[in-house]
Amino acid sequence: MIKEIENAPLLGRNSFGIDAKASRLVEFGNAAELAAYLAAREHADAPTAVIGGGNNILFTEDFRGTLLHCVGTDFAITGNTKNKVIVRAEAGLDWDDFVSRCINLGLWGAENLSAIPGTVGAAPVQNIGAYGAKAGDIIHSVELLDMTTLKESVLAGEHCCFGYRDSIFKHALKGRVVICAVNFALSREPSPILGYGALEHETAKLGDPTLENIRRAVTGIRSAKLPDPAVIGNAGSFFKNPLVPLRKAEELKERFPEMPVYPGDTPEEVKIPAGWLIEKSGWKGAALGRAGVYEKQALILVNRGGATGKDIIALSDAITEDVASKFGIRIEPEVNIW
Ligand code: FAD
Ligand code: NAP
Repeated sequence: MIKEIENAPLLGRNSFGIDAKASRLVEFGNAAELAAYLAAREHADAPTAVIGGGNNILFTEDFRGTLLHCVGTDFAITGNTKNKVIVRAEAGLDWDDFVSRCINLGLWGAENLSAIPGTVGAAPVQNIGAYGAKAGDIIHSVELLDMTTLKESVLAGEHCCFGYRDSIFKHALKGRVVICAVNFALSREPSPILGYGALEHETAKLGDPTLENIRRAVTGIRSAKLPDPAVIGNAGSFFKNPLVPLRKAEELKERFPEMPVYPGDTPEEVKIPAGWLIEKSGWKGAALGRAGVYEKQALILVNRGGATGKDIIALSDAITEDVASKFGIRIEPEVNIW
């Protein structure tokens, strides 16, 4: 059922804890409902955007337009092939509930992505990733509603242009479509991915690498290191890890032999952790007014209480300039700035 909220407060709808408002917030259950609402609505000329849990958005001002928010949370097995089980989840389902339900069904593929805050509908947008796994690797297809034509369609995973924290929804389809449901292809065969950091070690402490133990290990590592948005406002990693040409990385390695370097999307580039660049520039634990850099992970900017979006941007600009002048690398926000 459609629910329209005028002058909607966003304080409880964004993990940075920014006190902004939207002219209108519209909750919808599924694509048909949303299409009917969009066809009949007044204010069709106002900017329209989609918000899930607001865990990857920084509001720098009030949103003067309509925010669409899916509240559909259906979860169902819709198909079986020889090796895979297809699970359909509606966009409004909490991502970690989705992971937990897959694990309860004995389905492999989402376990390393445990405890990522947000909704199923946002997962394809930045191809959420953690501990060596990416949502794009298990997305079979994405069900869309085009906001202009009001046509529904299904986009196959291989056409979503998934890359490192990237997808077609950040480029060609940005601002054009609403993701209403996602279909996942998961495996009944055990396929643990344990090669990332301390994951293998932490899982072994709990026993065999079962789905439940991997989930518990990931959740434990995360809660020890990452700030809980319910306690301190943040949107996870504020910056993307830069992908830099091999030659540039080699030059930097001569100056900073201890600099960590990981493979990039192509053999010509490598990934350098932005958190390391920020920490090396002296920002870990620092603050600029009410905006700060988290003490345990320099990649995370935090709201130390009452910060505005502009306070967070002032800090992120200062860090970006400093890192550029020290390393010749321009780091870019991962968070959506509105
Ligand atoms: P929102 O923040 O509401 O939206 C994000 C973007 O997706 C916006 O551009 C929005 O317009 C768009 N969008 C949302 N829903 C839809 C839809 N239905 N249709 C079309 N577009 C839509 N990210 C990772 O990748 N890995 C991590 O390990 C990780 N850890 C995090 C830890 C913390 C503590 C926090 C706060 C964030 C973390 N993030 C991580 C970032 C965040 O969890 C993800 O980006 C998540 O997918 C955001 O979901 P959301 O529903 O809150 O999306
Ligand atoms: P970490 O383990 O301290 O590692 C720092 C960075 O180095 C990570 O960003 C990671 O890149 C990279 N890295 C480390 N080991 C790697 C490996 N074996 N192979 C490839 N890259 C490696 O990071 P953390 O902050 O504790 O986060 C742990 C995981 O959760 C990471 O995957 C991170 O992306 C994810 N996370 C994401 C967000 C977000 O908002 N996007 C927030 C918190 C945590 P990758 O980021 O590419 O993995």
